Amino acid sequence: MNEIVTRFPPSPTGHLHIGGARTALLNWLYARHHQGKFILRIEDTDTERSSREMTDSILQAMDWLGLHWDEGPYFQSTRFELYHQHIDWLLEKGLAYYCSCTPDEVEAMRQKAWNAGEKPKYDGSCRELGLGPGPGRVVRLKAPLSGQTVYQDLIKGQNAVDNRELDDFVLRRADNTPTYNLAVVVDDALMGINTILRGDDHISNTPKQVLLYQALQFERPSFAHVPMILGPDKKRLSKRHGAMSVLEYKARGYLPGALINYLVRLGWSSGDQELFTREELIEKFTLNSMGKSACVFNQEKLDWVNGRHLKQIPPSDLAAELRTRLRNRGLPGVDEAYAEKIVPLLQPRSQTLEQMAEQAVFFAQETEDIPYDPEMLDKFFTTELKQYLRDLLGRLERLQDFSQAAQEELLAEFLQEKDIKFKRIAQPIRIALTGKKASPGLFETMEVLGRDRTTARLRRALTQAEGSGKQTASAST
Ligand code: GLU
Repeated sequence: MNEIVTRFPPSPTGHLHIGGARTALLNWLYARHHQGKFILRIEDTDTERSSREMTDSILQAMDWLGLHWDEGPYFQSTRFELYHQHIDWLLEKGLAYYCSCTPDEVEAMRQKAWNAGEKPKYDGSCRELGLGPGPGRVVRLKAPLSGQTVYQDLIKGQNAVDNRELDDFVLRRADNTPTYNLAVVVDDALMGINTILRGDDHISNTPKQVLLYQALQFERPSFAHVPMILGPDKKRLSKRHGAMSVLEYKARGYLPGALINYLVRLGWSSGDQELFTREELIEKFTLNSMGKSACVFNQEKLDWVNGRHLKQIPPSDLAAELRTRLRNRGLPGVDEAYAEKIVPLLQPRSQTLEQMAEQAVFFAQETEDIPYDPEMLDKFFTTELKQYLRDLLGRLERLQDFSQAAQEELLAEFLQEKDIKFKRIAQPIRIALTGKKASPGLFETMEVLGRDRTTARLRRALTQAEGSGKQTASAST
């Protein structure tokens, strides 16, 4: 079998979104699985809507996802010469022709066909006129008037279109720019691309492209159309559904390996396996197990997949990421060693890196910045509890070894001596250390915070509780 050559040809009119990322991923995987080649081509013929900034953003997103291309990026805007050569060749061979009909005239023809219950199309008025070039003239393909255009879709099976439904579509516009269908066929053929794997929103272009392959005497590639990704309301996935660009997912703390894992599972399966490494995907990915029907984007599932991938990463690899995210929140005070101790506590409790950073805020805050809710202090720092906490604070200050085990032992003794339950004292301590009612395990949190932070926070919470206690006392008198 020939080497498999696939491509991803985004138009740089926006950032790389979930749908585009999945198309890129499937092409990349298919090429990698077959030890083939994956080509990147930027379809920037629409110079008004395309921008260098969006191209850079797309390249950055692909790079982050690890979808590395073997060739390119090629830019269509630099290849107009080639497209014109092929259009001119078709003109010379009598396989294309100039058309002088105005857009209004063409619209009227389409309307007329529509009113007659036919497919709206150009009626071929200029087909046999033998017109030459001139202002306002387009070049059209002389498409067959009868028969069928048939192709095998690797996912959807055979597709046949009656040629009477296809019209003499435009190859070169009046402003002398080539159309998408012409440019894409010339490029795919000249770049040796033999598998066109794309979203099924392009399915109506495929018969036209097949006709162009025939007219230009190019070898026809295989086509594979994957179903669109839908939002929960079964409409095409968009920002409306909260779907974000790939780089936004990066910013929100999703992992490239997890996003890839999630995206490939939208429509592809391998038994009931849900979690895959990149290597497993390359090994297992084929088009045989690609579904034919549209799939719905599910944010919760993505979060779950991300959480599972997050747990697989060695904590030392996450420390730098955590520090960056804390710095972005204006919390620069966490050094490498501290971050490496924080990560293992939060990793099992986070689905995204952002969630991890969010939960790490109290570790990173200065003692005086821990926010205490006065109501919470009133409720948990009762007079009795405050006495216990002051006593415990003294003991913790004197504790030589500040390890979890030593703290546990100290507290066990303390609870026995005072005859109170762990739960009663644990909650005010937790609030003092974190400002919150939920956190990782108390002893592990204390160990990571260390003696100085732990005792300083307990002292500050006690002082604040005195203050707020007095206020309530005076308010009630
Ligand atoms: N530039 C087109 C797009 O972004 C490519 C379509 C194709 O794969 O042929 O939709």
